[in-house]
Amino acid sequence: MQGIVIRSTGAWYEVRTNDKNIISCRLRGKFKLQDLKVTNPIAVGDKVEWEWEKDQKTGVITDILPRENYIIRKSVHKTAHAHLIATNIDQAIIIATLVAPRTSFGFIDRFLVSAETFRIPAVVVFNKSDLLDQEALRYQAEIMQIYTDIGYTCLQTSVLTQEGILDFEKILQGKVSLLSGHSGVGKSSLINAINPSLNLKTGEISDFSQKGKHTTTFAEMFELSENTFIIDTPGIKELGLVEIETDELSHYFPEMRKYLGECKFGSRCLHTHEPHCKVIEAVESGEIALFRYESYLSMLANEDNRR
Ligand code: GDP
Ligand code: ZN
Repeated sequence: MQGIVIRSTGAWYEVRTNDKNIISCRLRGKFKLQDLKVTNPIAVGDKVEWEWEKDQKTGVITDILPRENYIIRKSVHKTAHAHLIATNIDQAIIIATLVAPRTSFGFIDRFLVSAETFRIPAVVVFNKSDLLDQEALRYQAEIMQIYTDIGYTCLQTSVLTQEGILDFEKILQGKVSLLSGHSGVGKSSLINAINPSLNLKTGEISDFSQKGKHTTTFAEMFELSENTFIIDTPGIKELGLVEIETDELSHYFPEMRKYLGECKFGSRCLHTHEPHCKVIEAVESGEIALFRYESYLSMLANEDNRR
């Protein structure tokens, strides 16, 4: 029988069966780590084969189906293996707000680079539009245009006025979405706006992640509506990055990627100071947004972002 792992506590895995039952399962035997250097063989999102234990109460996972993608978080110890957080993610969504609280573009861009490295399509949702005056709305529209031009789906929402809520629902429909963003940006409120019966607590200092039914430090998946799933990653503020070589960072900025190899120094160009650098020229001409280039420089300078 097949099912999907919606929660894991290390020893036990909760598997959602095709007929929507949730069975606690253990692993049997040794699992290949599928060439990934990770500590845990199975994560939320994994599609698995399972069978009943003799008691018909709990189950055993006997196999993992091939993964579409995965996100891992590196260990704080450089030599230790990384932790597999979630797999088979259709899209990674960052909820951002220009005010209350302010999400920095650097934060958004790191998220987008992470999504690129894991080859997961990314969506940027700008919530709390009701708090913006005309000028701030114009500014936000410019920013959204920049991200849209690079190829990211963008959406402006307000839980208060319901702006964009139907569009948000459409973006989620039928998919497995990983939801991320700072505490207080309105993640729980947006989820409640779509499915009030989930009744997630809002407005508290605590994280969105701690407001669900289960409090756990592991990722978990819940059904938002028929065939539509949200993956919540408690305590994980950033997606995490796979190892990126310095001269490869620009490959994960789509607007820079298109100049790949065209600079005077070819693919070795870091686009920081080199003469006849196509990327620097594009920044100067305004084709590449200055704030995006600044995010690039800041990630380049910060070794943590490249491990
Ligand atoms: P989370 O931590 O990301 O889950 O954020 P919450 O959903 O708990 O929201 C934090 C606070 O922002 C709460 O007081 C919400 O009522 C408020 N909030 C959420 N969305 C909006 C919005 O679109 N506009 C305004 N003005 N407030 C919002
Ligand atoms: Zn260059």
